[in-house]
Amino acid sequence: MHGRRSGTLRDLRRENRSAVLWSLYFDRPRSRQDLGAATGLSPASVTNVVRELLDEGIVTEVGSQDSDGGRPRRLLDVYAEHGFVIGVDVGETRVQAGLYDLTLVERAKAERPFGPGEHDVAAAVQAIADTLHAVLADAAVDPAAVLGVGIGVPAIVEQGPEAVVHGQTFGWNAVPLERLLRAHTDLPLRFENCAKTTGQAELWFGAGRGARTAAVALIGSGVGASLVSGGSIYRGVNSSAGEWGHTTIIADGRRCRCGSSGCLEAYVGAEAILERFADPAAAMSVADSASASASAGDAESALAALVAMDESPAAQALLAQTAEYLGIGIANLVNLFNPERVILAGWAGLMLGGRLLPAIRSAAERHSLKHPFAATSIELGRLGPESMVLGAATLPLEGFLNGAIGHRP
Ligand SMILES: [Zn+2]
Repeated sequence: MHGRRSGTLRDLRRENRSAVLWSLYFDRPRSRQDLGAATGLSPASVTNVVRELLDEGIVTEVGSQDSDGGRPRRLLDVYAEHGFVIGVDVGETRVQAGLYDLTLVERAKAERPFGPGEHDVAAAVQAIADTLHAVLADAAVDPAAVLGVGIGVPAIVEQGPEAVVHGQTFGWNAVPLERLLRAHTDLPLRFENCAKTTGQAELWFGAGRGARTAAVALIGSGVGASLVSGGSIYRGVNSSAGEWGHTTIIADGRRCRCGSSGCLEAYVGAEAILERFADPAAAMSVADSASASASAGDAESALAALVAMDESPAAQALLAQTAEYLGIGIANLVNLFNPERVILAGWAGLMLGGRLLPAIRSAAERHSLKHPFAATSIELGRLGPESMVLGAATLPLEGFLNGAIGHRP
């Protein structure tokens, strides 16, 4: 009985603490009075929680604000140096990592190539470990000050005692990625599908802010979506919800990397678009501009060149057709899921959307039911391609704000 009561009290304190932290995190700086109004907690509870957070060095006082007639109100902010988080994104062609302070200001970043066709697990683990060690060294941060590492992967992540990943298009079948990385680091690790990490970044800081129901469509080499319901990401029975790229849009269509045919990814994924580009003269100039840029991934520079080809009727036709397929894919999301917002993200999504958004919207409208479409806005992601690394960094931060990690002695 006694143990149970104290457990309940501890839960309540943790909930209050979490409510104050979340509220402060997304609207900084704030006074104790503002935090009370935002969380619904009593002034005494807010005072207690804030005292605890000040004592632990998570929150700091940053000046004061005049109040009408009363005493000036002290303003509180999150203390950026309290701890650090690392985000790692395992992409199709590279592994990128970023080290951030607690307010998500980037302190260091690193990148390792991870070539197409070399998606072997050992190479991925090594590249992740290398970027992790590189950002720690570059930022000169003591690993003990790192709250955790979030890792986004282009695969389904089965959460459990140890995360196991299923990347059908990579040939990763039940890869025990967490156990393999344990040989390289003792830091707390969290894994998630990269469409979901990007979705979370857009939801917290980008085009998804304030949305309760949204679909973040991620288009790079692969295609996926993050479905946000009630303000959090919907995962489904075994975490694979949002495998939008492998919904079929053409019966007996192009072969897809997943082994099926006619998938959306086989039409609007970056490599798929380049493969569909049949005009030999125009294709030649795409290849030239791709090889002229050694730093960026080949697919990125090739797609950028293709999107900019105003003089080529073949390129224009291909882009119009791509907008149509993408619009059909979005219409399927709208009809099935009834989101208030569809956000087009990922490097290829931003590239295509920057040029084709009106055509994509028009196709989505033609293929959607009128009632759900009227409630949906279709927007471009606001965070840019780096949202994948930032999104991965939100994984340990989310745990910290919830009170699951942190609170070091
Ligand atoms: Zn597929």
